[in-house]
Amino acid sequence: MIKVLGDYHTHTRYSSGYKKKGTHATGSIEDNAKEALKKGLSTLVISEHGPGHYLYGVRRSNLSIMREEIYRLNEVYMPKGLKILLGLEANLVGIDGQLDVDEKFIKKLDILLMGYHYGATPLSFKDLYGLYIQNPLSKTGLMKEEKAIEVNTNAYLKALDNYKIDIITHPGSKAKVDIVQVAKKAGSLGTALEISSKHSELSTKTLHLIKDIDVNFYINSDAHRPEDVGNIQPGIDKAINAKIDLKRVKNILEMR
Ligand SMILES: [Zn+2]
Ligand SMILES: [Zn+2]
Repeated sequence: MIKVLGDYHTHTRYSSGYKKKGTHATGSIEDNAKEALKKGLSTLVISEHGPGHYLYGVRRSNLSIMREEIYRLNEVYMPKGLKILLGLEANLVGIDGQLDVDEKFIKKLDILLMGYHYGATPLSFKDLYGLYIQNPLSKTGLMKEEKAIEVNTNAYLKALDNYKIDIITHPGSKAKVDIVQVAKKAGSLGTALEISSKHSELSTKTLHLIKDIDVNFYINSDAHRPEDVGNIQPGIDKAINAKIDLKRVKNILEMR
């Protein structure tokens, strides 16, 4: 039997960019907390999209409001056994590994996640081309895929040097990377890789490639609706199929 200890990647209505609240993710922080408690989790991470995403990102001005809200909710939920952490799914927005948040912003967080998403505002034309034009082009065959993979991989590796990142979300989904290089570097720095229950990567096939690399994992829901919080079975199945030692997955506990 496997016990799910925490869900380290969930979104709320704060992930709505400049659109109407609730258009991208539907619940409130408390809705996610209630669901986490119901499912017996002891840790819940609220990880909105980084502020550089115009359509989905958290607005910078909401950060202190969220900090306060989580502080207040923890007073109620911690005695019940659930701890809520303020995280962020920062966007990779530059080919030299830049994120859409600065150190001042990161200091206010409990945990930093990083992911690649189309539609985040790139830093310059060079970054726009490298990260957002090359990737779709390489999928149509108009450009060499190896070149796109090289640019993406370098951006990820540099981001790991630039920031203390706790978890890389869905690595290889949306933009292909050399997962062996990313896993080695992440492992050497204590950064974990996410096995997403929502996105295709990390897949069973990819997990096979990095099975023997010393890196830890989190299996998360990436919930955009409260009812999905803690639903990580698809990710657990991928890990088991790839024969990953489940002790390396930091948010589950194998019970005998
Ligand atoms: Zn994501
Ligand atoms: Zn997400």
